[in-house]
Amino acid sequence: MIKILSFCCLFISANIFAQQPLMMPQNIKKAFTNETRSADGKPGKKYWQNHGKYNINVSVAPPSKTVTGTETISYINNSPTPLKTLMFKLILNIHNPGTARQSNASADYLTKGIIIDKYIENGIEQKFNDPRGQTMQQVRLAKPLATGDSISLSFNWHYELSEESGREGKLDSTSFFLAYFYPRIAVLDDVHGWDRMNFTDAQEFYNDFNDYAVSVTVPKNFLVWGTGDLQNAAELLQPAFLAKFNKSFTSDEVINVVTKSDLEAKNITTQNETNTWKWKATNVSDMAFCISNHYVWDAASVLVDKKTGRRASCQSAYIFGAGKFVNQVKHIQHSLDWYSNNFPGVPYPFPKSTIIQGFADMEYPMMANDSPQDDDVMQRFIAEHEVGHSYFPFYMGINEHRYGFMDEGWTTAFENMIAQDDMGKEKANKFFQQFRVANWALNPTDESQIPIITPVNVLSGQAMGNNEYGKPALAYLALKDMLGDELFKKSLHGFMDRWHGKHPIPWDMFNSFSNVSGKDLSWFWNNWFFTSNYMDVAVENVAVTKTGYSINIKNVGGYVVPVNVVIEYADGSKETIHKTAGIWEKNQQATTININTKKKITYLNLDGDLYMDANNKDNSWGTKKVDPNALKTTDLDKYLGVYSSKQIPVKITITKEGTDLFAEATGQEKFPLTTGAKDTFTFAPAGIELVFDSTKNEMTLKQGGGVFVFTKDK
Ligand SMILES: [Zn+2]
Repeated sequence: MIKILSFCCLFISANIFAQQPLMMPQNIKKAFTNETRSADGKPGKKYWQNHGKYNINVSVAPPSKTVTGTETISYINNSPTPLKTLMFKLILNIHNPGTARQSNASADYLTKGIIIDKYIENGIEQKFNDPRGQTMQQVRLAKPLATGDSISLSFNWHYELSEESGREGKLDSTSFFLAYFYPRIAVLDDVHGWDRMNFTDAQEFYNDFNDYAVSVTVPKNFLVWGTGDLQNAAELLQPAFLAKFNKSFTSDEVINVVTKSDLEAKNITTQNETNTWKWKATNVSDMAFCISNHYVWDAASVLVDKKTGRRASCQSAYIFGAGKFVNQVKHIQHSLDWYSNNFPGVPYPFPKSTIIQGFADMEYPMMANDSPQDDDVMQRFIAEHEVGHSYFPFYMGINEHRYGFMDEGWTTAFENMIAQDDMGKEKANKFFQQFRVANWALNPTDESQIPIITPVNVLSGQAMGNNEYGKPALAYLALKDMLGDELFKKSLHGFMDRWHGKHPIPWDMFNSFSNVSGKDLSWFWNNWFFTSNYMDVAVENVAVTKTGYSINIKNVGGYVVPVNVVIEYADGSKETIHKTAGIWEKNQQATTININTKKKITYLNLDGDLYMDANNKDNSWGTKKVDPNALKTTDLDKYLGVYSSKQIPVKITITKEGTDLFAEATGQEKFPLTTGAKDTFTFAPAGIELVFDSTKNEMTLKQGGGVFVFTKDK
C-alpha cells in the first residue's frame, strides 16, 4: 500500500554456535514423531491433507451491491481422526462493526457481513448462524465425519459489498471485486489441528487445495474476469470479441479484446437479460472475480514451458487511461517468462494470470488487484511482486497465517532477482535497500529484532512487515549467494518438488534445503531465523602477513551477512572482494579475511550493499583518498531542518548521516534519500521526489502527481 509519505506497506537472545539443531516447538516435534513430517525434509510417510470440491453460483447486478450465492461443498476427511465439528471461515464478517481487526475501519467499510440463509448437512437442514458474526465459526456436525468419509454441505447466502474496498468490495459504481467471498472450511492440519484464527484483515492465505466450479451471473454487457478457465466464452461473447479473446491464447502481441469504444457501443456480450460466466479450476487454494461494464480488456499469452510448448494466458482489465495499466499485459508476460526460466525457474504452474485495476496491490490465485501507477517502473514492480506470489503461497500451500516469511519472504527475494535483470544490479539494489531494508536495518528498535520464526499472528505493524518481507528475503538471497546459483536452484527445486500442492512448514523447508544441498545448513537457518540478530559488522584490526593482509572482522549485530571488502591501494588502484555468508560458518562472532596481494593497502571498507550495516562508522581502516569531486558531508548542511507546508498537515525533518540524507515525516519512519539531479533527492518506494531551493529555504515534494511546497521552520 502506498500513500503520501507512508510506504507499504520478549527477546529470545541466544548465542548460536555452528550445527546446533534447530529449535523446535513441541507441536512441531510431535509432527515428526508421528511421521507426518520427515527429518530429511520430505512429507512424512503419514502426511495427509484434506480436500473439498466447491460448486458455487453467484448473482450480482450492479449498481446493487447485494451478492447472492448458493454453494455446495463435498469435503473429505483424510485425517486419522473422526471429526465431530467443522470450522468455517466467513471472512466477509471482517466488515461487521463488532469484529476485531488490526486496523481502523471507516463507516464505508462496514456492512452486516455475510448472512447464511440456509445450511444443509447431508440433505438435512441445520442451524448455522452465530449471532456474533465472527470470521471463524465452529459447527457441530449432526453425525461425526469418519476418517476417509466425505460430507455434503449446501449453503444459501448473501452479502452487501462494502462501499470502500479493501482486498475485496466495490471498486467503483459498477466495478466490483469478489474475493474471500464464500463460506469455506478452514484448514485442518497435522501440526496445528484446525486453523481457528479469526481473520483480522492482516493475515493472507492458508487454504486447502480444492476443486472449484464457480458461475457468476451478471447483467448483459458486464464482463467477468476470474481465477481458472472460462468454460463458456462462446455463449457469452459476440463473435468479434470471442475471436479476439480466442486469438490471445496463441498471441505474443497484446490484443485489445474490448476497447473503450466497444464499451460505449454496449454490444459485447450476448444480449440476454443476464449471462452466466462459468469458471473451473482444480487444485487451487481460492477463487476471485472482478466484474465491470466499463473496464477495457487486454489479453495475450506467453510461452511458460519450453519443454512442452505450454503457454499461459495474460490478461488485464481497467478503466482506459488508468496509470500505466496499458502496459500491464506486457508486465505479466515478462514476469511469467522470467520466473519460469530464471528463479524460481519452475514453469508458471497455472493456465493464466490476470491483473485488474483496484486498490489492494494484492494477490489471489491467477489474479491480482493492483493500483494504477503513473510511473511504469512502479506499475511493473507491483505486477512482478503480485504475480510472483503464484509460486509462494499458491503453488506451495504456505501457512501464511503463521509463517508469512515463507511466502512474502520468497516473493520479495524473487522481486530483487527480477529487478536486477530489469534495471541492473546497482539500481535494483538501491531500490531494494530503500523499499525493503532501510526501515528496519537502520531503525534500532526492539520491533526490528524479533526472530523471524515468531508466528506472525502474534505480531503487528512494523514487526510483522520486517519479519515477513525484507529480513527473510535477505536470508534467502544470502543463501543463494553462499550456495551459488546452481546448488541453490537444485535445493530450491528439491523443496518445491516435494511440497507443491501441500502444506510445508518452515522446518520442512530448512530440512529439505540441507538434505538436497548435501550441506548441514542449520547454522545458517539458526542464525537468520531463530535469533534477535541484526546487521552490523566491524573491522577489528588489519595485519600485514607474508602473503598480504589479514582483516579481523567482528560480527557485532550477529547476522551472518555477505561482505564486500572495498580496497584502495597505494598505487591508486581499487578492488572489491566479495565474501559470501560462508565466512561465518565456523564462528559466527568473528572471522578473518585474507587478502593476497603484493600491493600496499591504504584504505579498506566493509560494504554490505543490500545488507545495510547498522553502524558504518567502524567498517573501515586506513585513510581514504579524498576524491575532489565527491560529495562532502558539509555539502548537505544547507538542506537540513524541519519543513512545513500550507498544503498538507505534515512536517518533514531532513537530517544527515555522513553523506547520506534522510527524511522523516510526522509519525513515520525515517527513510534514506537517493541523490538525483542538482538539489534533487528521491525515495523510489513511495515515488517521492524532493527538490530543494536553499536560497528561499524551500523544499518541493512531488508524489503521485501532487506538488507540495514546504518552507523551512525558523
Ligand atoms: Zn506480497
